[in-house]
Amino acid sequence: MSPDTPTGKLLIFTAPSGAGKTTIVRHLLKHFGQLAFSVSATNRPMRPGEEDGVAYYFLSDEEFADRIAAGDFVEYEEVYPGRFYGTLHAELHRLWAQDKVIVFDIEVKGATNLKKFYPEQSTAVFVAPPSPEILFQRLRDRNTESEADLKVRIERAEEELAYLNSFDRVLLNDDLDTALAQAEMLVREMLEV
Ligand code: 5GP
Repeated sequence: MSPDTPTGKLLIFTAPSGAGKTTIVRHLLKHFGQLAFSVSATNRPMRPGEEDGVAYYFLSDEEFADRIAAGDFVEYEEVYPGRFYGTLHAELHRLWAQDKVIVFDIEVKGATNLKKFYPEQSTAVFVAPPSPEILFQRLRDRNTESEADLKVRIERAEEELAYLNSFDRVLLNDDLDTALAQAEMLVREMLEV
């Protein structure tokens, strides 16, 4: 990356899986044309209804390893055993070239690393569930994973809740409409509109 490649703002949403960050991010993208979603790369299998290049760039294990070796990632994590997710430098520069504020839906370690890489330009928001019990129930209700995967996700969510106070803002997702309105306010502040 050339040192004078322009960079812009980052709006990072992070949370334990099941806290509702994806719903909030989708809502904001629909309402604010100035925002664009950072499409991460992953080696996890595509779920029914998913399309390559929309929620993720789906890579094989080998492709993902090659991109790590090439230094193509701003950050990446092995979020679940053998399942890698990462943010590509090229993706950020693609969106900044379009003058977008980049929105992220990313787990807590990746959010921490992004914020470290772009400290001045980042606002990181932790989406908090009303309680751990409600979060675990939401994960069970989602029903997209096998029993074994669900157990891993619940354990991970438990660890991630400990990061509550490590970010710039906490957005409580108890009543969804309230959370969406607060998220909109935050974006208006950031965009100064
Ligand atoms: P899912 O498999 O349910 O789509 O996502 C699993 C987890 O990976 C979610 O918590 C999601 O936020 C996180 N994730 C998605 N993209 C990235 C990324 O680029 N980097 C990191 N560190 N985590 C990501």
